[in-house]
Amino acid sequence: MSGKYNESNQSISCSVCKQCGGCQYVDIPYEKELKKKSAYLKQLFEGICTVGEVHGMYRPAFYRNKVHAVVGLDKQKGIVTGTYAEGTHRLVPVDVCMIEDQKADSIIATLRELFASFKYVPYNEDTHRGFMRHILIRRGFSTKEMMVVLVTADNKFPSKNNFLKALLEKHPDITTVVQNINDYSTSMVLGKANKVLYGKGYIEDVLCGCRFRISPESFYQINPSQTEKLYKTAIRLGGITKNDVVIDAYCGIGTIGIALSSHAKKVIGVELNPQAVKDAQTNADLNHIKNIQFVNEDAGDFLVRYAEGGRADVVIMDPPRSGSTPEFLQSLLQIKPKRIVYISCNPETQVRDVRVLQKGGYKVEACEGYDMFPHTFHVETVCLLSRKAQ
Ligand code: SAH
Repeated sequence: MSGKYNESNQSISCSVCKQCGGCQYVDIPYEKELKKKSAYLKQLFEGICTVGEVHGMYRPAFYRNKVHAVVGLDKQKGIVTGTYAEGTHRLVPVDVCMIEDQKADSIIATLRELFASFKYVPYNEDTHRGFMRHILIRRGFSTKEMMVVLVTADNKFPSKNNFLKALLEKHPDITTVVQNINDYSTSMVLGKANKVLYGKGYIEDVLCGCRFRISPESFYQINPSQTEKLYKTAIRLGGITKNDVVIDAYCGIGTIGIALSSHAKKVIGVELNPQAVKDAQTNADLNHIKNIQFVNEDAGDFLVRYAEGGRADVVIMDPPRSGSTPEFLQSLLQIKPKRIVYISCNPETQVRDVRVLQKGGYKVEACEGYDMFPHTFHVETVCLLSRKAQ
């Protein structure tokens, strides 16, 4: 198994890309990939607004700060780790990945050896037997903190202390180790219960000058250098002033709302995942921010209620790939914010939603693309919509 990052044209090569399916732009110069992504966005937004060139990443390799590996057993090789082939539950062993953090990959290599010597049997999805299911590694690129989450099928952890000692001896830069217990026959990676085996049980990272706590299950953007550029653009486009009430919808751990709070009068973050909301509240405290509050609710349900008399001058929204919902969009049209900043990891659902807002009296002023996921098909966009004078 091999892979290579080519410095001269910033392309990657990978011997398992076909089976893995994670990267689609392999052996293609990065400049060409960015051109393709720009052309795709220009076509998608035709008749809506002009889109500039996609903002690319400096040195587009080893960028993922979150690395997930499935643990399995191969008759010849013994314990293997890797990914499910796209759309299947067939494990493709991956030792070297061109887009994942290299430190994380080297920890995973150590874990394969340790699992074998401690006789931690990989979990088998068909027989429901075995112990070790997944490895999840998260790294704070600016703080250098590193979290290892071991997803196991039951809550025992035999020879825990010796295992931790051996792991930390090889990788002293690991700052926390968490056991996550997933005893369901499910394709979800994480189960509900976490046990902290070592350290604090979370990591922190710094983004846009603010500090953020990241738990095993919270959403956090996977490419921090590109995220910082995207957030700065979103905040600039929002044109927020000291009198503005801002809603940060689909706020995750509160990153955008916290980063912009010093410009605003008041910020309300809305998020469905309860653990992310807890982290968001902690993050506000960590950064001594007093003018932000978080609501743990479906963003659509919240906005329907808020539309009955609530005020918002600027709404930032960053929904999941499926986009927003009709309830959310209709309530937004009722609230009538001056500006809407719509961030999206799926420009197709974004265009669908933007058309609804256009019909409801908004003009699309700008759209910019950011390459958060080099060498894959994905591209992130941020659109500014402003309310037309009535
Ligand atoms: N703005 C954040 C998170 C964006 S990802 C950031 O940049 O880090 C999208 C977020 O929407 C996730 O945190 C997810 O948990 C949340 N989410 C998904 N469906 C939701 C819903 N119906 N209502 C509110 N939040 C939702």
